[in-house]
Amino acid sequence: MPLASAIRTIPDYPKPGIMFRDITTLLGDARAFRRAVDELVQPWAGTKIDKVAGMEARGFILGGAVAHQLSAGFVPVRKKGKLPHTTVRIAYSLEYGVDEMEVHEDAVVKGERVILVDDLIATGGTAEGAIKLLQQIGAEVVAACFVIDLPDLGGAKKIEALGVPVRKLVSFE
Ligand code: IMP
Repeated sequence: MPLASAIRTIPDYPKPGIMFRDITTLLGDARAFRRAVDELVQPWAGTKIDKVAGMEARGFILGGAVAHQLSAGFVPVRKKGKLPHTTVRIAYSLEYGVDEMEVHEDAVVKGERVILVDDLIATGGTAEGAIKLLQQIGAEVVAACFVIDLPDLGGAKKIEALGVPVRKLVSFE
């Protein structure tokens, strides 16, 4: 069964005109979940990845599983005000407006090889912010991985232009 068929589409969520790609159905399907994680990590199997960074909140679920698979540590990238220790913060662009995300300043050791994981890339604003934040605390960001790409919005190209290879499993036009 193609991975795409495990993803549910909710029309007009969270507002009219948006087709929301919902991965909770994929996460709830044991075989699809395992396959998504296996396929995400496949290029790095057997290579040294020190940490996996996951975006709040769906990136935590996928990123935790990816980190386990690669025997790597996990780094949460969170919305502002949620992390308890000293953080580094960056503003990033959303579809409408800006927000801020944070990571603990000591979440990586300088030069550590880090993979970023999230459920979906659209405009790439979120991933771009996270990559810059991780680089700021000394990470070598070796790739950004997403279950879903919305190629019409150009996010994957934007991230590759930063010199970070993008892995994505399913595209929705
Ligand atoms: P971007 O910053 O425009 O690339 O948007 C990506 C971020 O928005 C990710 O953190 C996604 O989880 C979230 N997002 C945007 N659209 C969707 C969707 O259709 N389904 C699930 N998450 C989405």
